[in-house]
Amino acid sequence: MTAIQTVHVGGSAPYTVTIAPGLIDDGAVLTQALRGRHLLLVSDANVAPLYAARVEAAARAARPALNIGRFVMPAGEHEKTLARFGECLDALATLGATRDAAVLALGGGVIGDLAGFAGACWMRGIDVIQVPTTLLAMVDSSVGGKTAVDLPSGKNLVGAFHPPRAVVADTTALRSLPDRELRAGLAEVVKYGAIFDAGFLDWLEAHADALLARDDAALAEAVARSCRYKADVVERDPFEHGDRALLNFGHTFGHAIETEQGYAGASGDGLNHGEAVAVGMVLAARLSADLGLAPAADARRLQDLLQRFGLPVAVPPGLPPEALLARMRLDKKADARGLRFILWDAAGAARVVRDVPDAAVLAVLGA
Ligand code: NAD
Ligand code: ZN
Repeated sequence: MTAIQTVHVGGSAPYTVTIAPGLIDDGAVLTQALRGRHLLLVSDANVAPLYAARVEAAARAARPALNIGRFVMPAGEHEKTLARFGECLDALATLGATRDAAVLALGGGVIGDLAGFAGACWMRGIDVIQVPTTLLAMVDSSVGGKTAVDLPSGKNLVGAFHPPRAVVADTTALRSLPDRELRAGLAEVVKYGAIFDAGFLDWLEAHADALLARDDAALAEAVARSCRYKADVVERDPFEHGDRALLNFGHTFGHAIETEQGYAGASGDGLNHGEAVAVGMVLAARLSADLGLAPAADARRLQDLLQRFGLPVAVPPGLPPEALLARMRLDKKADARGLRFILWDAAGAARVVRDVPDAAVLAVLGA
């Protein structure tokens, strides 16, 4: 039996992340933060048939008087729209949701972001319970309070900071996750080691096979440790004015790859977000070595670990270095002073580096 792990996220609106196998059937944990009698369960068409009835039954067993509604939308990033957000608010209206109502987001980051934003806006903000079902959502998007939807002109352009009241991560939900999604989540797990803690990279190297085999204890440990790193940095910098930017390690390169490919990852013919971040982290590590900031051996170590997780580590063919560099200049993370990167001094020690010369960037991109 894997023990229940909890991670406390402090700050002005503190909450707890609870991690263990079986929590989807644990009504007491799922409803720990509920204040009123209305609960809207938000999910997508892949996740709802697998888990929604179980969550509802567990919640109802714990709180028999609950008035539970369900909003299920089609799956995928291209559904993270203002139109679906509006439908979600309509579902709250239909439910008769009052100010003490709660939204329960059951799904990956798309559902967490959209339902979280609906919770941030309904009656100027109600409680949100995050029940992440992808590894990426468990280790990243469900913690930290960022919510958003996309516009045709760009990702995550409309949103709010609205911390959840509780996060409940059931590692057994990851058993149904497609392999590629698991690997994408592992890239973000590796990211925490790369940024904050070389000792976590040791642990990941030792437990890579168990993680790929979806061993509950290994997954719970990886999720809990990842949430702790994220919680620490979110507590220090809730609105991303400083340290929280370190979480973008690998993301400047990664976003450039994703946008240059036209976000083709969902259709299977491009890299998805986690894969692009894996490539981006290797490039950031190499750039650090090329600039004389960090040992080249650390970049090789990171590359080996990502490869063990089945992740790509090189820029896909057909993406010209100049085009990727142009994308990075447009990225919102580039500020007025020129290209800014999250690089590292060594594995586990990332920092912001400004004014990185174009020639060095082009060199790691293969020009
Ligand atoms: P996702 O929500 O699209 O889920 C990936 C796919 O897996 C979907 O098809 C989904 O239906 C399916 N799925 C989910 N759980 C499943 C399960 N247990 N079994 C079977 N299938 C399952 O994608 P994601 O990778 O979880 O999240 C990506 C989103 O997260 C992006 O929109 C990104 O912007 C956002 N994000 C937000 C933050 C934040 O801080 N708010 C951080 C990182 C990413
Ligand atoms: Zn990411």
